[in-house]
Amino acid sequence: MGMRLVRAAVLLTFVGFWLAPVSARGTLDADEVQLKRALEARSGEMLETLRLWVGTNTGSFNQVGLERCSKMLAEPLSRLGFALEIVPGKALGLPGRPTQTGPLVIARRPAPSGVEGAPRFLLVGHYDTVFELSSPFQRLRIDPNDPGRAIGPGVADMKGGLVVLLFALQALAESGDLDRAGWTVIFNADEEVGSLVSRARIEAEARRADYGFVFEAVRPDGAMVRSRRGVGQFRLEVSGVAAHAGQAHAKGRSAIHELALKVVRLEALTDYSRGITFNVGTIEGGTKRNIVPERAYAWVDVRYDDSAQAKEILEGLQLIVQDSAVKGTRADLWG
Ligand SMILES: [Zn+2]
Repeated sequence: MGMRLVRAAVLLTFVGFWLAPVSARGTLDADEVQLKRALEARSGEMLETLRLWVGTNTGSFNQVGLERCSKMLAEPLSRLGFALEIVPGKALGLPGRPTQTGPLVIARRPAPSGVEGAPRFLLVGHYDTVFELSSPFQRLRIDPNDPGRAIGPGVADMKGGLVVLLFALQALAESGDLDRAGWTVIFNADEEVGSLVSRARIEAEARRADYGFVFEAVRPDGAMVRSRRGVGQFRLEVSGVAAHAGQAHAKGRSAIHELALKVVRLEALTDYSRGITFNVGTIEGGTKRNIVPERAYAWVDVRYDDSAQAKEILEGLQLIVQDSAVKGTRADLWG
């Protein structure tokens, strides 16, 4: 992983600055070779940084860990002359659990005055992971069968990418190249729960930037990706009427029954030939065997090939949400 991080940082350093992948240009020039060497010399430090960040639990709702990690990420940028804006997290309001997200870190380093026409870069990464404090998976270790591979919660998704981001910026600072551009870095802490708090800020910053880079690795070989399929996520909540299943079954309105019918209809919207998929990934609901369930929830993941399909997908979804087969139930879509 040490070498892989170096390679990624080298690639990003060059791509970020000259906007052409190294491979597309063939060889490195003398300055680039120097940057590469400087990064290689720091591979041990990269691995230790990764170990520290990965060992700091940042499950999306682990407030303490997220606060701690946000400082670890922000502080080295402030040493590079970035001005920090820390936006506190928000409660997402999911029923039945604490849902306070972690801080959104926005770090800015405008091009020095006098640098005309400097490009503006936006670099984005999230530091939350899907591993909450209760997970047994908490530490980084090196794969005993492959010393180049690190395993740990969020190594690939995406603290490894954050290490690349930081070291690439440090390398550019040391070579003096950081001053040739304006930089905005965003670390969000709610990506794994849908970026609901950070999305608007990321979009606003993106509109002000000439180039944007997201540091999450999406391909096993770490290749750069120019566009990705559309993705959406929704939480579907069905409310019914609770009743005792023995004495008052007819008075109940089963949220689970309604959700089950909706799940069948949602899954039927999948159309592989057009690259549209619906996946009901989790369902929850009910309280007791002998109670007609008042509530049921599902998380739904939607993927599609092109943005023109988004409207159609939303309409299909709305129809299923509004139309209840079990009379007396209602559904709300969240996300
Ligand atoms: Zn991710």
